[in-house]
Amino acid sequence: MAKASKATKYVYLFGNNKADGDGSMKALLGGKGANLAEMTRIGLPVPPGFTITTEVCTYYYANKRTYPKQLQSQMEAGVLNMEKILGKKFGDLDKPLLVAVRSGARDSMPGMMDTILNLGLNDQTVLALVKASKNERFAWDCYRRFIQMYGDVVMGVQKRPDEDHEPFETVIDGLKKELFPKEDNVEDTRIDTLGLKELVRRFKDLVKQRTGKNFPNDPWDQLRGAVGAVFGSWMNDRAIVYRRKYNIPQEWGTAVNVQAMVFGNTGDRSGSGVAFTRDPASGEKVFYGEFLMNAQGEDVVAGVRTPQPVAELKKIMPGAYNELERVRKTLESHFKDMQDFEFTIEEEKLFMLQTRNGKRTGVAAVRIAVEMVTEKLIDWQTAVTRVPAEQLDQVLAPVFDRDTIKKTEVIARGLPAGPGAASGKIYFNAERAVEAAEKREKVLLVRIETSPEDLRGMIAAEGILTARGGVSSHAALVARQMGKVCVCGASALQVDYHAKTLTVGNQTYNEGDWLSIDGTSGEVYAGEVKTAPSEILQVLLDKSLDPKKSPTYLNFAKLMDWCAKATRLQVRTNADSPEQVANAVAFGASGIGLCRTEHMFFEGNRIDAMREMILAETTEERKKALAKLLPYQRDDFAGMFRELDGLPATIRFLDPPLHEFLPHESSLINSLSDNIGVPAAKISKRVAELHEFNPMLGHRGCRLGIVYPEISEMQARAVFEAAAIVQKEGIKVRPEVMIPLVGFPKELQLQIEVVNRVAAEVQKEQKVKLNYLVGTMIEIPRAALVADEIARDAQFFSFGTNDLTQTTLGMSRDDSGSFLPRYQELEIVKQNPFASVDQSGVGKLMQVAVELGQKTRPDIKLGICGEHGGDPSSVKFCHKIGLNYVSCSPFRVPVARLAAAQAAISDTKSAAKKPLKKKK
Ligand code: ADP
Ligand code: MG
Ligand code: MG
Repeated sequence: MAKASKATKYVYLFGNNKADGDGSMKALLGGKGANLAEMTRIGLPVPPGFTITTEVCTYYYANKRTYPKQLQSQMEAGVLNMEKILGKKFGDLDKPLLVAVRSGARDSMPGMMDTILNLGLNDQTVLALVKASKNERFAWDCYRRFIQMYGDVVMGVQKRPDEDHEPFETVIDGLKKELFPKEDNVEDTRIDTLGLKELVRRFKDLVKQRTGKNFPNDPWDQLRGAVGAVFGSWMNDRAIVYRRKYNIPQEWGTAVNVQAMVFGNTGDRSGSGVAFTRDPASGEKVFYGEFLMNAQGEDVVAGVRTPQPVAELKKIMPGAYNELERVRKTLESHFKDMQDFEFTIEEEKLFMLQTRNGKRTGVAAVRIAVEMVTEKLIDWQTAVTRVPAEQLDQVLAPVFDRDTIKKTEVIARGLPAGPGAASGKIYFNAERAVEAAEKREKVLLVRIETSPEDLRGMIAAEGILTARGGVSSHAALVARQMGKVCVCGASALQVDYHAKTLTVGNQTYNEGDWLSIDGTSGEVYAGEVKTAPSEILQVLLDKSLDPKKSPTYLNFAKLMDWCAKATRLQVRTNADSPEQVANAVAFGASGIGLCRTEHMFFEGNRIDAMREMILAETTEERKKALAKLLPYQRDDFAGMFRELDGLPATIRFLDPPLHEFLPHESSLINSLSDNIGVPAAKISKRVAELHEFNPMLGHRGCRLGIVYPEISEMQARAVFEAAAIVQKEGIKVRPEVMIPLVGFPKELQLQIEVVNRVAAEVQKEQKVKLNYLVGTMIEIPRAALVADEIARDAQFFSFGTNDLTQTTLGMSRDDSGSFLPRYQELEIVKQNPFASVDQSGVGKLMQVAVELGQKTRPDIKLGICGEHGGDPSSVKFCHKIGLNYVSCSPFRVPVARLAAAQAAISDTKSAAKKPLKKKK
């Protein structure tokens, strides 16, 4: 690691409308630190503090968990700055300064890193705080909170695997039971000073008992411990799981913010809250959020007490509310995006503690982007970049069937925290939810409240249901980001972790029973409820909804129009039936990028003709069987050509090894024998002959057509006869015949000869002139390496990135499950290479093939047809290397279109920026 020079600035101050940093410095100051600086600069009321940079985190891990020498003195200067601004002193026995120690990575990681509040308190300073605040209860409340947070985060007093609750919470519950023996759900605020003093004593005992150590007294020891814990938490399990899911590189590190405390827990003229400048679930432009009176921040997100909607503040504290409304407007006009912010009100004065671009559902993202263009806050290009391509899927997510739901009884209501409809078997802990999901059960994770430990279970579940917590609780935040259906704070639910039951009124549900939740309305239903397609599907595919009546659809359509305006890369679809084509075209596909003809052989009794063909012993017999298949294929192609109405269709010739079409069980062999009149013994013999040790690398792809040219002949005839028929109906037809698994130029030449000969025959027979192309897939490394030779014959290349990944990595996709997850954990691979193109390996081969291909044939058409065609980062890569189109499954088409448009817009934006940056 680079040695830092003496002059290195590790600590950035903010306070009093001045800041060393600003909002653009997220890499160095983390998201929270950069925006604290930015808010300070624009005059918002931010308590003073300082940010320790992410470079210190990097240093810390590169140097055996130690700090650069200059850090201590720079921190002292930072503390001094706060002391000056506030007229208080850290550790003082008169006016003690208390601080919050807050983590903050570049991207927000909800719940992943922990915050410590009220640091600086000890048995002496707490008395000073009593004196200074003239509020004994408040001071002791701060102290018990501090011990609780510090004990948890720094000293590691946490829930053990056999415990369902945090140990500190268990102590609180115990005390409440003693103080209020007859009551349930007693709020913390009812514990009086004496009770709080007792809690402090019990907390310290708990710390001592669990760690063997005394709670630290010296404020500077506390501060150093807290800073170390924040850096340490960058490598905790939760953080690692989260980073893996969202592909956040470990190198980024986290910053630490040390900030003067403001107090939301001084009484009922104070409180703490979280708000969004617009509704993050629906996108509607309303002030949305919640707050708790007499509380410190973590209470709101922890979901321990259910907070009130922010609108209620209007009545309780009109002054603070008006100030909040003003801040809401300032934030949007300054940051030009929906903001998610945290605030505290101390004695009716508002303080801003955080702001960031708010996480939102896919539905909300689309709505906010489109409406902000209408409001002239942003231009349409920016709007396109505002919707994360992965999230567009959510707009297409199912809803409950309208008629069924009317007849289904609502058993409970909670807050609509993550839209969509989900049905599943209920599980009460993350581990069992994951196990069930692995057995392919549909799972609903049901918890009293969720915490970051539940993340794995939340990932595995169809939906999440909690009994406590509001729309900014952990469950809600994470669900929204993952696009999970979520209902929070359904307080009628009585969850008993121990008995594994859920009780509502006098009904009890056991683990494994079905429930359904609607994360758009917040309703909970008993049993499994049928789902219906989203409004967009209802408009586009079912045509059962009038587009004018669906604002969701109209916003989506607007966004897609902008995408069309911006994009260079076309999006085609992988489809092998007219219905799939129709769906994809409705979503804006510009043709078929991959029609897998073998899928057509499985339908109805075609499979028998196919098997007859495979079992044939002579060319004559084989041709006879193929003749039976011809009309089926021809009809299928004709149906697709009609649906395409002039759009191109890439048709791949037979690809899988033949044994995949044959039955392997004796009962099935017998029935095939009856159907086609071939003795069972003969079938068994042929099945055995066709067995391959490594079918992925065996007799498949063009190797079939090379050995049995009559197969390619039949397929070519089906394509061209269908083309002739449809063209005569007055519909333009553009077939593109694609030969799979080519590695040697001669393979392609031999197949092209067959295709061209049949095309000539059909054109002559039918007296038509057909426009068609013949090209190849590039899916084995050899093809990429000799692409210049192959391009002499190929009119187009389509990258078959599934096989290209398998053959380049020498890794079978179907067998990778046993080691790939570990590879991802160890970051040997950053992403699953079968989901997202391995850009530096497979991607490099693609680039080589593009360059070589264009050298021979400058206008060669280039596309991709692997699963990667629907993955946004792969789509962006395809744009970058200059492909003409990507192809993906019909329902991924909108996602790919959005990613393609975003790639084009980011090109134009960086081109526009270049002249300014030239200095470098
Ligand atoms: P997270 O990243 O988990 O949101 P934060 O650092 O934002 O963690 O802190 C969590 C909560 O602690 C916030 O909701 C905020 O209300 C409260 N908090 C943070 N800093 C301060 C502060 N300086 N004064 C009072 N409360 C604070
Ligand atoms: Mg937190
Ligand atoms: Mg926060």
